[in-house]
Amino acid sequence: MKHRESTAEPRFEDLGLSSKMLSAIKKAGFEKPSAIQAAFIPVAIEGVDCIGQARTGTGKTAAFVIPILEQIDHEADAPQALVLTPTRELCQQVADQAVRLSVNRDCRVACIVGGKSIKQQVDTLKRGAQVVVGTPGRIIDLMTRGMLNISKLEIVVLDEADRMLDIGFRPDIEKILRRCPEDRQTLLLSATLPPPVEKLAKRYMHDPEMVDVSANDIAPATIKQYCCTVDEDRKLGMLVKLLAEVRPSQVLVFTRTKRTADRLHAVFSKRLPHVAHLHSDLQQTVRDRVMKQFRAGQLRMLIATDVVGRGIDVSSVTHIINYDIPESCDDYVHRIGRTGRLSSDQEGVAFTFVTKQQGEELTRIENRVNTLLEPYYVQNYDAFRAGPARRSVVDDGVKRFG
Ligand code: ADP
Ligand code: MG
Repeated sequence: MKHRESTAEPRFEDLGLSSKMLSAIKKAGFEKPSAIQAAFIPVAIEGVDCIGQARTGTGKTAAFVIPILEQIDHEADAPQALVLTPTRELCQQVADQAVRLSVNRDCRVACIVGGKSIKQQVDTLKRGAQVVVGTPGRIIDLMTRGMLNISKLEIVVLDEADRMLDIGFRPDIEKILRRCPEDRQTLLLSATLPPPVEKLAKRYMHDPEMVDVSANDIAPATIKQYCCTVDEDRKLGMLVKLLAEVRPSQVLVFTRTKRTADRLHAVFSKRLPHVAHLHSDLQQTVRDRVMKQFRAGQLRMLIATDVVGRGIDVSSVTHIINYDIPESCDDYVHRIGRTGRLSSDQEGVAFTFVTKQQGEELTRIENRVNTLLEPYYVQNYDAFRAGPARRSVVDDGVKRFG
């Protein structure tokens, strides 16, 4: 019987890339393409519109950054590629990858995000940025003021499209797309393709090719997923007990609201060093510093809401704790995608706190990831006794974790 060639492991060498690109990829330490990269890159470098769907943490950034770097004119001065992403943190990550993957050729990247000096950003543009990465709000702002020349744009990328629509960027995105040159290439990357994303693609993309590697790949096998049933007012005690028991080396705790994030932060930061929180009400300079410290491993515990937590790539995170069960299944997938990532070999662990009333929400998540979350019982802690844990329990738990 004849063997099919497609069973061979994909290699960057087979994707039609230039030798400059190949050597930059090597320098970046990428040995072989991920599934989405192997499927998406050859289509995208042809210049056609393309939708890429793949789980969080599978390398979607390089999947569109590589085709951009291969297609743009590195001698030209006007922006040729525009990447829209939902958060400032993600903009920075995309910009960093673009710089990293263009080590041996000139490529100027501008990061255009809110909460930072407009003047500095305009200066970068004036120096002739070829790739512009930004959040929709600030991009619109600079476009309207005539400070961002989009007439030479050849590629527009909608990164984390599902999340951008989730957080209300649709009007801004549509405004931007309507003003961009008609004959541009549009690339759309997303972990999920709910109807609003499909509608956007239908309206603003030309006959897009669909590259979907998300099937059976929702939750990475390298993540152990547990659930802990607990009463709402027993959650804090549960969290400190769990931390004391598991003693994670770096943990990301997700809350549903900014207020809960603030509250948890107050409890832990008072008792421990290397704890921070992240949500959209905090100043941009603070958010940047926190992300930098977290990535550098200087923070042991980060408490975050979904908006900022999503898409953040920190390969050293060992544990995810969903202090509140995520509102949507997609958020669950995104949250646990923060650990056990492509760039780390270690197995990740995710705990999800579920109240008795949230059984249905848990079932929806389990259906979505096609896995039953294994019940986890924290030792010596009654998850259902009336009233919150005593202060001494909290103090003692935090001490044993720290
Ligand atoms: P996604 O956008 O799909 O959530 P990212 O683009 O943020 O994923 O990539 C996740 C991590 O994987 C990043 O740290 C990135 O540097 C790394 N990575 C990407 N492609 C490869 C590859 N081919 N080999 C090894 N690591 C990779
Ligand atoms: Mg991404």
